[in-house]
This record gives sequence, C-alpha cells and structure tokens, in this order.
Amino acid sequence: MKGLIRPELILEGKLAQAYLISSDSKAASHKAAADFIRQVFCKSGTGCGTCIACRRFDAGNHPDILVIRSDGESIKKEDIQELTYFLSVKPVMNGYRCIYIEDAEKMNLTVQNKLLKSFEDPPEHTVFVLSAVHPGLLLPTVVSRCAVLQIQNAPPSSSDSPEFRAALMQAGGSRSEAQELIDSSSYQEMRKTVTGIAGRLVRGRISAVSMAGDIMGTGDVRTALFMLAGLLADCAAYRMGAEGLRYAPDAEDIIKQASLSPSVLSLMADTVTRSMSEESTYSAVSDRLITESMFIDLYRIIKG
Ligand SMILES: [Zn+2]
Repeated sequence: MKGLIRPELILEGKLAQAYLISSDSKAASHKAAADFIRQVFCKSGTGCGTCIACRRFDAGNHPDILVIRSDGESIKKEDIQELTYFLSVKPVMNGYRCIYIEDAEKMNLTVQNKLLKSFEDPPEHTVFVLSAVHPGLLLPTVVSRCAVLQIQNAPPSSSDSPEFRAALMQAGGSRSEAQELIDSSSYQEMRKTVTGIAGRLVRGRISAVSMAGDIMGTGDVRTALFMLAGLLADCAAYRMGAEGLRYAPDAEDIIKQASLSPSVLSLMADTVTRSMSEESTYSAVSDRLITESMFIDLYRIIKG
C-alpha cells in the first residue's frame, strides 16, 4: 500500500492533523497505517523500508513516532501516559512527529476526550494516525476531525482458489497484494519450503538446525515465520474440529496428516508467533539465533 499520501504534502508540511485509516481487516488497517507513517518519515518519501527512518520505525525506536496500543480490551488513560510529554518536546529529527493509535476504536471515553483536546489545540508539526476496523465505535467528534482513508478489501470469496486465499491472509487482506504474491516466484518458493517444514513438524519430525537454515534461506524470516505460524494454527484448529482452514487453505493435505495433539500444535503455533515479534530486521546473526532457538523450543514441545 505505497503512496497513500502525495509526497508534496509531506514536503510542504501540509498533512492533515489526523488521519483515520479504516479497513475491514485489522491486519490490513495496521499495514496501511504503517505504510502511511513510513512514507511520512522516509528519507526518500516513498516508505522504502531500508533508509534509517524506515528502519527505526520498523524497529520501534523512531524518536518522533509514539505508538499507542493496548493488548487489553481497551486503551485507557494509563496507555497514553507518554503522550503529554511526547507533545511537550520538539521533534528530534526536525520534521514531523506522529502519534499512532492502533485499533483506535479501543480508546475509552477519557482517552478520546483527551485526544479531542489535542485536536482543538493542535501541536505544531504533529500528525495523528488512527487505525480502526470499527470507526463507528469512535466519538463522531473524533472522526469528524480526521481525514478518513478507507482501505478497500473485498473478503475472500468461495470462487477464490485455495492458493489465492492463503496469499490473501499473508497480504493482510489486500487483493492486489495477494495477486502480486501469487505472481512472485520468491513467494511461491517460500511457500513450498515452509509448507514442507510444517508437514514434517506436524507429524512430530524435527531437525532444528536444518529447519532454521531453511527458514533463513527464504531471505525473509518474518514472512516465513508468519506462514509457519498460520500453518500450525490451522492444524491445531483442524484437529479441534474447526471447519475450513483460515491461513493455509492451500495445504489441506498436509494439515490432515497432522498426528500431534491439538494442544501441542497450538503451543507450537504460539511459540512461532512469539519468536516472530523478537525477530529483528537488522541483523542476520540474531535472526539465526532466534530462529534456531525457536526450533529448539519446538523440539522440546514435540518431544514433551
Ligand atoms: Zn525509507
């Protein structure tokens, strides 16, 4: 989702005060918001993903970007403690500063009112970005102060091939990006590698070092681990009797061969998901360490 905003708006300092990015898929709204923010701060104005600004954002340590999110049911006053201080100091990098509120509809009334106060007395060079799946749960006064960007996502349909539906999950619900994946040979190769690994894992076969090597060999550890987590989660769900495969409709034959128990499989899926959040975009050495220790954890789980 490159190019959500016209680059000249950023250069001329003419961004709106707040943007509400809404989509019918949470993953797609997060991705679009991240693409948007990357574009605002990117040294090349494109959201390249490789410049220092993009990398700092991806690593979660850009000094001028405050991310507000909550793992709980709602975003409460405690979750926005840093906001006042953040707004009281000037941007470190001399450009914009951004407050990103993920799943903005989780904000409770206190927080939304606090946000409205910031909107009424807008701090300079500050852009608020809100992502939401249910913008209707936000106060109308909040929504009316935002430029709304609706990300279109047609849900998967039964006429989509299993391969396409799997790619759609990977692409966070964007049909055009799913098609790009299908057309890319590196995606196809990665899918084959990861599906092969999953096929062995779900039958209790594991060789930690070589599997970690294969994951590293895909060249994109995060994406490969997302795939693996999806395959394992689908296996667990299938073994628990769920109908239909969410992440890996293209791997039905492999999933049906699973011999491990559903609880073991879901523990494995959790383990992969956890290591995904540890995986760093910086260093190949730490990627390898994290990936290897993840497979060693999987080994322990399988061997009980
Ligand atoms: Zn960049």
